[in-house]
Amino acid sequence: MDKLLTAERPAALCPDLAPQAELAVLTRVLYRLGYRDHTFGHITYKQPDGTFLVTPFELEWDEVTPADIMRMDADGNTLEGQWTITPAIVLHTELHKARPDILVAAHNHPPYGTIYTAAGRIPPAYDQTSAMAASDDIVLFNDYVGNVSAVDAARANVAAVGDKNLALLANHGVLVLGSSIASAYFRCSTLEWRCRLAWHYWPVPVAYCWETNGVHVYLVAPYTRVKNYIGTPYCIDSCIAIYGGVGCNP
Ligand SMILES: [Zn+2]
Repeated sequence: MDKLLTAERPAALCPDLAPQAELAVLTRVLYRLGYRDHTFGHITYKQPDGTFLVTPFELEWDEVTPADIMRMDADGNTLEGQWTITPAIVLHTELHKARPDILVAAHNHPPYGTIYTAAGRIPPAYDQTSAMAASDDIVLFNDYVGNVSAVDAARANVAAVGDKNLALLANHGVLVLGSSIASAYFRCSTLEWRCRLAWHYWPVPVAYCWETNGVHVYLVAPYTRVKNYIGTPYCIDSCIAIYGGVGCNP
């Protein structure tokens, strides 16, 4: 991914922007990709002087302009700006303290990512774009309690994220990290793509079950789908529903 983002091109894809403008562009682009749960999302962008630019609490992401971007210190105290900073900023301040490699942290409740936070499951990758939100870079934080302003909850969340860059927070939303505006955009985009594709691909129950007297194959979907779910809790549930308690043979 880094190669893709830093490749030399004959013409600039985008003019040089002030950091506030970079962050405003990111919020607007992500809004179009589904990161638009009213005013509940927030993004922080670490600056070379150790301060952080942050999106305002009062505006939806398609309304944000460079002049609306706030600045805060490492503890979330306001340094500049006409708006307020979300009380949930502790999630970001604790994260940035633990992960100095991260310049951008984005949190929102995009529809398809949030479906999988409700399901408590990381969706499989069914195409190459989905695979760019790499499976070994995603963490599911099932203990997320949703108290977004509590330091203890934020620290537990940060500890669960570890060195990953994509997090599904149970029954809540997503947290996406990047070493640049571009990498944060790339990960936000591919994570929601992965969740959306998996959700659309997976509307029909499947099962591949084994019984003592032989092997049952119950195909109501393409074999690839069955193959991907053999041995998963979903497959086992389906086997039980269809065959009344038989085991699943991975
Ligand atoms: Zn949230």
